[in-house]
Amino acid sequence: MDTNHLVDALRQAPHAATFAIDAATGAVTTHGALWDMAARHAAALIGLGVQPGCRVALQVEKSIAGLACYLGTVMAGAVHLPLNTAYPGAEVAYFLTDAAPRVFICDPARLAELAPVAQAAGVTHVLTLNADGAGSLADAAAEAAPLTRPVPRGPDDLAAFLYTSGTTGRSKGAMLSHDALLSNALTLRDLWQFTDNNTLIHALPVFHTHGLFVAINVTLLAGGAIILHRSFDPAAVLADFGRATALMGVPTFYVRLLDQPGLTPDAVAGMRVFISGSAPMLMDTHARWQARTGHTVLERYGMTETNMTTSNPCVGLRKPGTVGLPLPGVDLRIVDDAGQAVAAGTPGGIEVRGPNLFQGYWQMPDKTAADMRPGGWFATGDIGTQDGDGYVTIVGRSKDLIITGGFNVYPKEVESVIDALDGVVESAAFGLPDADLGEVVAVAVVLAPGAVLTAEGIVGGTAGRLARFKQPRQVHLMDALPRNTMGKVQKAALRAMFGA
Ligand code: ATP
Ligand code: MG
Repeated sequence: MDTNHLVDALRQAPHAATFAIDAATGAVTTHGALWDMAARHAAALIGLGVQPGCRVALQVEKSIAGLACYLGTVMAGAVHLPLNTAYPGAEVAYFLTDAAPRVFICDPARLAELAPVAQAAGVTHVLTLNADGAGSLADAAAEAAPLTRPVPRGPDDLAAFLYTSGTTGRSKGAMLSHDALLSNALTLRDLWQFTDNNTLIHALPVFHTHGLFVAINVTLLAGGAIILHRSFDPAAVLADFGRATALMGVPTFYVRLLDQPGLTPDAVAGMRVFISGSAPMLMDTHARWQARTGHTVLERYGMTETNMTTSNPCVGLRKPGTVGLPLPGVDLRIVDDAGQAVAAGTPGGIEVRGPNLFQGYWQMPDKTAADMRPGGWFATGDIGTQDGDGYVTIVGRSKDLIITGGFNVYPKEVESVIDALDGVVESAAFGLPDADLGEVVAVAVVLAPGAVLTAEGIVGGTAGRLARFKQPRQVHLMDALPRNTMGKVQKAALRAMFGA
């Protein structure tokens, strides 16, 4: 074996000249320059004693140098481990102790705080990289002679550890192989028709599967370009629609873009596709986006452990409110508690199988075993339905399922009814303990400014639309729903807040 499964495919794809345009400065990075930087990073890391299988952790702002470090790590045969920039020192300590990386790279501004944390976790080298791509890592890479041949790695060797978003509990380290990443990126490139003519607006973080593997790997395999936004600024993204062809975002991006008066059909005339995922998009957002732009948002579904698993089609019917069809090469089934397939339209646990799956949770063999089923199926922990055409709808997470008086209530069916009430922006349904019924349905509701709706009005609005046992017994009006750093609603926080 003398190939590096992931890097060779990404690097050898036919490509246009430009890889990235910095949205703020206009600086251009070519594909050639990116790979030269990656090869220098690989050599610098090997110089620090990084060997195949070693973890290289980083908690840095988004930059081209950070992406070169990702590619250089994989080129060196090592395992890329990006950390959410919002994590404070105590959280970083957990991740570094858990994953035991050899090298840790942080922002120079946090070196004094994090170097002792890293040393205590047994990290041998701490380097720095700032948002402008400068720091001791960049210096080491600039001095290194580029690695001429990537370190050989096979399809099943690990390329990354990615921690889950921590929406339902402590983040788990998902071990991802070269082929899990490559097979998924190839499928998405073809399904979404990304080519070297494609310019993607990249405003997502690169420590999460969406912004890193979906956005970057697909762009590299297509040989296209990104416009790199360091963070999401709706006005700046809108201004780039004129020179881009695609956007990948979380639902919040679309909600905030809809607040921009400049969002018109003319403004998006050159855009080919708008993709959304990582959290459910409200029907209202889908409808408003369609009305304002003439485009139907292409919603897809995936998770850290599985990469992407379903998507609405690029060509063909997109059904708003669904996450589309299982991807080519990915098997998906919906099962009851006994593991038996359910009928179309019946909610059940979503299980998936394919080359896209992770290899297990790092140092959590019991958790891995608990989520794997015979035959290579992985239980996602999400509950969904599949319609007669095969389109999947997510109705909630199994941890958020509400069981009241022995009946199952899926959060989404309550939320859909409440969201449709006049004056409601969004809602989250969750269960609260009840001596009599086990649990009752509670909802947190965000009202539009000036809305006159009351808690009683909301309960009244569900009458006739929801069975009595699904109607909320408690309504909590909130200014905003509690979300984690990935923008996902934290139902555990709601249960803790209102369950006392
Ligand atoms: P943790 O596993 O640590 O609790 P998490 O599940 O939020 O956190 P991720 O792997 O980032 O971590 O997110 C995957 C989850 O996001 C999926 O299991 C699903 O619940 C949700 N999700 C992703 N895309 C969509 C979508 N289009 N619609 C609804 N939910 C989605
Ligand atoms: Mg999860």
